[in-house]
This record gives sequence, structure tokens and C-alpha cells, in this order.
Amino acid sequence: MTVNRRTVIGSATAMAALGSMKMTLADSHRKPTVVVVGGGAGGATAARYIAKDSAGGINVVLIEPTRTYYSCFFSNLYIGGFRDFESIGHTYGKLAADFGINVVHDWAVGVDRDAKTVALAGGGAVPYDKLILSPGIDFVNGAVEGWDITSQHAMPHAYKAGSQTELLRAQVLAMPQGGIYAMVAPPNPYRCPPGPYERVSMVAHILKQANPTAKIIIADPKPKFSKMALFEEGWGDHYAGMIDWIGEDFGGGNVSVNPKEMTLSIDGEVTKVDVCNVIPAMKAGHIAHQASLTEGNWVPVNAADMSSKADGDIYVLGDASQQGDMPKSAFSANSQAKICANAIRGALTGSSVFPARFSNTCWSLIGPENGVKVGATYEATPEKIARVDGFISQIGESSELRKETYKESVAWYSAISADIFGA
Ligand code: FAD
Repeated sequence: MTVNRRTVIGSATAMAALGSMKMTLADSHRKPTVVVVGGGAGGATAARYIAKDSAGGINVVLIEPTRTYYSCFFSNLYIGGFRDFESIGHTYGKLAADFGINVVHDWAVGVDRDAKTVALAGGGAVPYDKLILSPGIDFVNGAVEGWDITSQHAMPHAYKAGSQTELLRAQVLAMPQGGIYAMVAPPNPYRCPPGPYERVSMVAHILKQANPTAKIIIADPKPKFSKMALFEEGWGDHYAGMIDWIGEDFGGGNVSVNPKEMTLSIDGEVTKVDVCNVIPAMKAGHIAHQASLTEGNWVPVNAADMSSKADGDIYVLGDASQQGDMPKSAFSANSQAKICANAIRGALTGSSVFPARFSNTCWSLIGPENGVKVGATYEATPEKIARVDGFISQIGESSELRKETYKESVAWYSAISADIFGA
């Protein structure tokens, strides 16, 4: 394998990182190696739990191109001015320093399932005994007429956090008085079902203060959406008259955009807009397709351990997986990662494996201290991850309860960040 400064980074210097990678490759003759592609909610959690719980018995290599992971979760709160940008950024130093994980900052560009190696954009290939893919999402080409990835500056998606999120907030703040913010919402399934509607709430919050005559249009291909009654209640309470949701029944799925003209056409009616947040249909991250693990847009997995149905040595976590009833969320990816880590440790070292139970909660902020949530627990069945029971915030709850729910979400963000990236 070729190792160069571009491909390898740990917590220390490039030289130390090179040394530790050489050590890993030498050790790999004795110890099993787990390679993890994608250092987000699913991948970094799995890497950390395998390294932590195997106490050095398994080599863990984490391949992730970015040096700072900006979380999509809570990125809407940054757009709404409730968080600063730095607070949603996370680095990989603790995973390298505290857990001995080899963090390789590069793109995985190929999986050779026969040779059991992962090829890197920077050159070389990393061998694995078990491979975990948690690459998140990519967008379906041609999903929104007139938009492709080269339009993302004029019409940002902001559905992968980072510069896109900063761009969208800057565009909202620069809107002329009385201007129009449009969102093209995605079809199911997509990451974070309430995410587009929390975003609209956050955009409305800043417009209400700085640009109260501005309008928001949502073109939606769906007849209904997650926590719809709660959002509608909140929009009426906080942003009366500002938000126009155009669902499937009113042509919300018959949409095209023109990024040069900054126009949006909904069911043939063309509107000039000031900001157009296009969130296209989604599919598993490219590497999952490249590895020939997908059926359609997603990777079918076994619920008991998140192994791919096409290859028992490859596990697929989070948004990229097609697992059953869990929504595509960071909470879900983190929960699945712990089940997967436990199963892989069992397979490689003979440690005990506990039955798969999963959980998820999705909080959304509608206005200042007005938090709502939806959640459930799940179990593994032979067919899928199946919902066991659940809960959802109620219409008409007291402001005290909504404040408590918001505070709960803030505590969750701190806890899950530490669980993913180390405390
Ligand atoms: P990600 O966290 O996206 O991680 C994927 C990683 O893989 C990335 O770091 C990427 O760089 C890397 N990668 C991709 N391809 C390659 C490759 N070829 N080689 C190497 N690395 C690669 N979830 C919640 O639980 N709560 C929330 O409040 C919430 N709010 C959200 C709000 C918004 C606006 C959005 C968009 C999402 C929100 N989510 C929320 C959803 C959550 O962000 C995702 O479901 C979660 O991040 C999925 O985890 P993942 O590991 O599948 O993917």
C-alpha cells in the first residue's frame, strides 16, 4: 500500500501518523482489521466502540475525507441563529489519540470484495477482515428538473452540512425586504424526516425579526410530512401568514427550477424567488453503489447486525442502509452502529453478542424554546428492524413542557457528539 501525507492523519504529526499506519499493517498479520468508511454519525460511532471495547484486540482504520465533520443535526439551529457554526464542527483527534484508531483522511473510491480491500483516492488499498460503510447520502441525478449538483451555489441543498449550510444562512440574511424563500422538499425516504420543516421554522424565525414581510413557499411532493400537525400549530403561533406549504395534492411534486433566472415552477406556475433551497431525492452514498451492494437507491441489510444482504463481511449503517422502520437520523445511525460494533467484535474475537434493540428520537425546534419530538424503540426481526413502540409531542402542550423538550435536545446533542467522536 502507498501511504503519503495526503492520505494519512492521526492526532499527531504526519510522520507519527505514517508510523502508526505502518504499525497497523504489521499488526494486521496478528490482529483482525476493521475498516470503516465514513466518519459521521454511524461510522465514527462504530469505529470508537470497536476500538474501545476490544481494547486493542482489533485494528480499526477510519477513512473520512474531511478533517472537520459538520453535523447536519443542529445545522438548522445554526441557520436560525441558535448555535454558532463552530459548535456543530467535530474533529477526529480524540478517536486517534484516545482510542488508537487510524484515521485516514481520504476518499474511499472502490471496494474489492474478493480481495477484501478498500482503494483510496490518494493511492493504495487498505485490507479488511470486516468492512463498515456509513457514507451517508448522495442525491438522485435529475430528481428536480433544472437542478444538478453544479447548481448548488445558486440553489443550495444544505443537506450535507458545512459550506452549504453557511451559504444558505447567508442567502437568507441577504434577502430583500418582502422577498421570497422557496424550498423544494424531497420525496420519501430521505435523511431526517422533520429536517426540512424544522429548517423552514428556523428561516421563518430569522425573517420574522429582520424581514417580517418576506414569504416562504414549500413545494412538497408528499401529501403529508413528519410531525405535520405540530409544525402547522407552531407556524400558526409564531409565523402566521408567512409560510405557504404546497403539498402533492396542489402540484407540489410537479416542480422545476431555473438557477440562472432564480425561478421556481410549481404545477406550471412560475415564481421569481430570492432563495431557493432545493433538497433533491436521495440515495445511498456513492461508494455503496460502487461496491454493488445496493438494490435501487439503498443497501438492504440484516437487522440483527446491519450486515449487507449481499456480503456478510460488509456492514452498512445509517442513512445508506435499507433496514426497515427506523427513520434516517443521526440517533438511528448511532444506535445501529453500537449493535454492529458488538456483532463484529463477537465475530472477530468471540466476545458475547447481545440481542439487537434500537432506539431513535428526533427533536425539532419550531421557535424559541418551542421544542417537539417524536421517537420509538425497535427490535430486530428476520425481515427488518421493526418498530416496537413510540411517542410524539402533543398539540397544545404547555410552554414549560416545550421548553423542557428543547433543553432535552440540547443535552442530547452534547451526549451524542461525545458518543460519536469521544468526550
Ligand atoms: P453522515 O453522518 O452523513 O456521515 C457520512 C460520512 O461519510 C461523511 O462524513 C462523509 O464525508 C463520509 N463519506 C462519504 N463517502 C465517503 C467515501 N467514499 N469515502 C470516505 N468517506 C466518505 N438526525 C438526528 O438524529 N437528529 C437531528 O436533529 C437531525 N437533524 C438533521 C437536520 C438536517 C438539516 C439534516 C440534513 C439531517 C439531520 N439529521 C438529524 C440526520 C443526520 O444528520 C443523518 O441521518 C446522519 O448524519 C446519518 O449518519 P451517517 O453515518 O449515515 O452519515
